Amino acid sequence: MDFHSDYAMTIDGKAVVSPATIPVINPATGETFAQAPDCTREQLDAAVASAKAAFKTWRNVPIAERQALVHKVGDVLLANAEALARLFTQEQGRPVDAAKQEIQGAGVWLQAVAKMTPPVHVSEDSPTQLIETRYVPLGVVCAIAPWNFPVSLAMWKVAPALVAGNTMVLKPSPFTPLCTLKIGELLRDILPPGVLNIVTGGDDLGPWMTAHPGFAKISFTGSTATGKRVMESAAKDLKRVTLELGGNDAAIVMPDVDLDEVAQKIFFGAFFNSAQICVATKRLYVHEDVYDGLRDRLAAIAKAVKVGDGAEQGTVLGPIQNKRQYDRVMELLDDARANDLTLLQGAAIPEGAGYFVPVTIVDNPPESSRVVQEEAFGPILPMLKFADVNDVIDRANDSDYGLAGAVWSKDVEKALDIARRMETGTVWINQNLNLRPDTPFGGHKQSGFGVENGLDGLLEFMAPQSVYLARG
Ligand code: NAD
Repeated sequence: MDFHSDYAMTIDGKAVVSPATIPVINPATGETFAQAPDCTREQLDAAVASAKAAFKTWRNVPIAERQALVHKVGDVLLANAEALARLFTQEQGRPVDAAKQEIQGAGVWLQAVAKMTPPVHVSEDSPTQLIETRYVPLGVVCAIAPWNFPVSLAMWKVAPALVAGNTMVLKPSPFTPLCTLKIGELLRDILPPGVLNIVTGGDDLGPWMTAHPGFAKISFTGSTATGKRVMESAAKDLKRVTLELGGNDAAIVMPDVDLDEVAQKIFFGAFFNSAQICVATKRLYVHEDVYDGLRDRLAAIAKAVKVGDGAEQGTVLGPIQNKRQYDRVMELLDDARANDLTLLQGAAIPEGAGYFVPVTIVDNPPESSRVVQEEAFGPILPMLKFADVNDVIDRANDSDYGLAGAVWSKDVEKALDIARRMETGTVWINQNLNLRPDTPFGGHKQSGFGVENGLDGLLEFMAPQSVYLARG
């Protein structure tokens, strides 16, 4: 298969192109290198109709067969990770090795979810009656994915939705449509027609989807602002929603850490994928006793890390994925400069039209500064000093977001106590960015609604059905 041309949607198991296309830009060069279909309303209707027709059969396919097919989807990703990785780098910007890891990780994820089976609860099994609650699929799922982890975050939806017996119409971000389109092509011979439709398009397509009456559920990953619009649109006909949204994650570094041991881990917990991670550390609170030592170590790592085109050997951090996000990050940097904040910047960035931003540490800015209060979603990390642990927990929790957080300390009991007081869906202690298919993941407060992963994530694609049988 040619991964570098002929990008078509998958509707009813067939390749479908559109009258119009959307340009796909390589963020390392700022140049358009491919075109993706711009789905029309009629094509979206056809995708939903196909998924609806397929649901009638798919929901009755024995779960073991659905699990086997989802496992096979995982095999396909693993087998094609190498070939897809270069395309991934071209459209997303991340260095090729890390791109390959995402695709392989998504393959392993699909295989893990393929082992999950919803439970059956028996409330009564007596001579007079049997009362049993089992879980049934919902129908056609609308899946909308972001650009920062375009393959894995899409597969986090595909795997549980299909195991549960739903069918799907999946829309990747217009900034990163190509790998998802190619995965759709790879799966045309594997999944029955209509089970997984893949559509791409511009800014109209998402709202068309969330307003479409044919969907029973929306599974959305993206920003909090868009998540609110999705929920509003879903309310009209009470579609179920799962929303995985933004975060402004705090990490708390206690004075007993070994700085040489933790500095690299903290650095990449903030800056991996050029800091475009929902669960990246975005506010780094450091005890005053170790503040200077950690700041100097992080600044030294920033100087040594190569920022560049992900296709080039040795690149560690790629560009910001798209112009819109680049402008936003630059605006936050301008705001920091305008307010005389101290910026410690890392290695030089390539010249040219690529969307590169130097790794930037902001040295102890005021708590109220925009760079602390807002989700940058780019390589600007505010480091803030603290002296009192109760005070720092209050500062960490003083946010509308509640996605994840981290605690760094040698004192496990103290770290656990801090972790339990953090108002977030995930807390890491002496590690970060670790997520697993068998463990629920979701945001508290305005970081989300519902969860993905784990049995809880699978059940978000199902509804309980209680059957009461009279006996005797
Ligand atoms: P975004 O909200 O701009 O877009 C996400 C998706 O929604 C895209 O596919 C987009 O085309 C679509 N969309 C845009 N407007 C829409 C509308 N009105 N109706 C329906 N769909 C619409 O987000 P983004 O910039 O692609 O991603 C970055 C954001 O995602 C960050 O805030 C990040 O924290 C968050 N994120 C969260 C998680 C998580 O699991 N919690 C994971 C990754 C990213």
